[in-house]
Amino acid sequence: MSASPSAGALRQRDALARSQPEAGPWLALLTEVARESGAPQWESAAAGTALRSRQPRPLPLLAGAAVPLDERVVAEWIGRLFALAGNAGPDATSLAEAADRVDARALLAAAIDQDGHRLSTHALALAVDPDVLAAIAQLAAVPLLQACRRRLASAVSADWDDGCCPICGAWPALAESRGLQRERRLRCARCGADWAAVAMRCPYCRNGDHQHLGSLISETQGEGRKVDTCDRCRGYVKSVATLRPWAADEVPLADLATVDLDIAALERDFARPEAPAVALDVRLVDPPDGGTRTGGR
Ligand SMILES: [Zn+2]
Ligand SMILES: [Zn+2]
Repeated sequence: MSASPSAGALRQRDALARSQPEAGPWLALLTEVARESGAPQWESAAAGTALRSRQPRPLPLLAGAAVPLDERVVAEWIGRLFALAGNAGPDATSLAEAADRVDARALLAAAIDQDGHRLSTHALALAVDPDVLAAIAQLAAVPLLQACRRRLASAVSADWDDGCCPICGAWPALAESRGLQRERRLRCARCGADWAAVAMRCPYCRNGDHQHLGSLISETQGEGRKVDTCDRCRGYVKSVATLRPWAADEVPLADLATVDLDIAALERDFARPEAPAVALDVRLVDPPDGGTRTGGR
């Protein structure tokens, strides 16, 4: 297992701290998440994960999976993240106060499923800003999903050609145009997965008609840093030239470092899909030994 944070992530973080000082509190959260991602409790949860044996169609590996996870482990982690987020600004202050009241395991399951309705219900019950809660809950899911990716990456089907992450089902955060061959690889900012993009096809709506695919290329930065767009679904994917693959914990930092590309896309009425690609329906269950109370999600 590689060290967390990775050397590449440390470099990206230092560069971001200089170029986007206002992102400091968010960087502190990402650093805590990277540190937590190597912790043994997530590793054992991933090791005990039962995958659904037969999928009706090719689905991300975690679809329908049962993950053994002690609720005390989740409560401790969510509490720590909420407290840290509480230092991040006025919007997040109420989050620090909500840490004692949250059903941590149910919140984590909702975040893994990217279920906006369940996440809003939690926000309403806790009287916290739904967007802030959703963002923090997504971060909370990262250590478990990274551990699952380390366990499961080798089980991903070689002919996976979907636009969404083959492990956790998230839409790609961005694409790498990698190496001298400019191999196009999609990257997941949650679990860190790395999968091949089908050339000239929108990852969201599978549109392959090149007349309806385009790119936003800046005059100063050229092909090395651009936005690929689809006129059919109005989706976009950021694309960055890389010499080597990003480490898993570099992906969210690369996402943050390219926020100017998001702005350029949004200004032209392109957007990333709001709905997840699949209903993942992961269950968080008591571990067979020493689980506490019952109730999964
Ligand atoms: Zn993923
Ligand atoms: Zn599309």
